[in-house]
Amino acid sequence: MRVAYGRGVAQVRLERITKTFGSAGAAVRAVDGVSLDVADHEFMILLGPSGCGKSTLLRMIAGLEDPTEGDIFIGDRRVNDVAPKERDVAMVFQSYALYPHKTVRANIEFPLKVRGVPRDQRSVEAKQAADVLGLGELMDRKPGQLSGGQRQRVALARAIVRRPAVFCMDEPLSNLDAKLRGETRAELVDLHRRLESTFVFVTHDQVEAMTMGSRIAVMNAGRLQQVGSPHEVYEHPATSFVAQFIGTPPMNLLPPGVLDRPDVVIGIRPEHVVMTPTGAHLANVRLVEQLGHETLVTCELVGGVAGGSRMIVRLGAEQVPPTIGQDVLLDLPAAHRHRFDAATGERLP
Ligand code: ATP
Repeated sequence: MRVAYGRGVAQVRLERITKTFGSAGAAVRAVDGVSLDVADHEFMILLGPSGCGKSTLLRMIAGLEDPTEGDIFIGDRRVNDVAPKERDVAMVFQSYALYPHKTVRANIEFPLKVRGVPRDQRSVEAKQAADVLGLGELMDRKPGQLSGGQRQRVALARAIVRRPAVFCMDEPLSNLDAKLRGETRAELVDLHRRLESTFVFVTHDQVEAMTMGSRIAVMNAGRLQQVGSPHEVYEHPATSFVAQFIGTPPMNLLPPGVLDRPDVVIGIRPEHVVMTPTGAHLANVRLVEQLGHETLVTCELVGGVAGGSRMIVRLGAEQVPPTIGQDVLLDLPAAHRHRFDAATGERLP
């Protein structure tokens, strides 16, 4: 079912947003000069490690925090001074924050009741939102009688009935177990397609980011590192930080100067390292992790300036893995090497 919201353009534009907490002496710069355009109907992921400022940025879009500097636009409207409830934004949190004594139906209807929507219309809208999320059978239950995944869906349904132009989601899947997370990821992608509204989704989980977002904004220490499609950030990381943050296991980075100038760091993804009798680099196997569909081999390079560096190699299921302690030879094909400035971490041509 598609739910056409028939509203205006809902792009989100952030212009040089900075947020500092605390007073001058002990100020924390949580967000530092971030400019970002989220297109109408886009599924944008804000991704980064704990404390990088992604939740603060999301909360500023929703109006729950004020920026210290910079402007926020939703559509053509500058919303810095617009109250959260006037922004046409719905926030979905990690904790579901449902009313425990109300039924699923009453929880979903609640935002409409607050708005004074008549009972009949509330009921129709709640049913439609519940159907979108497959909650139809559960309308008379209380939150305590639901699984974590079902509760999160009720929280989503409660956001949907508000028909916001923009959904802001702060790690909404992190309370779910691995299987349910996977399923709910797929449901959210489908929901986004059907709702035709703009999603801004915060996560520290790069798998979540890679599988759900149309674009990913990678943040570190309050700054934007790169904005791009999952393919772009994986294939062409703009910084060595992004190279290491995106990908499991992360990209291997060699010490500065190895295989290049002294001011250059070379990176290579585990799937591009070739274990072959003709390899140029001697390494010793330290760990072998057989995951079924692939094997991850952690090696330590032996000799030369890179000696002691760790190198993870991804082998296909059909390749016979080495044993721990074995010496192997590795090839690092030039076509798959990434170059980064050793001082700034920025990608080099
Ligand atoms: P996490 O994934 O752990 O939630 P995050 O990337 O969402 O992290 P934020 O919650 O945005 O990070 O916090 C960014 C920085 O701002 C952190 O250093 C945090 O300690 C600080 N911070 C956030 N909120 C406040 C606050 N109300 N007062 C003071 N410092 C804060």
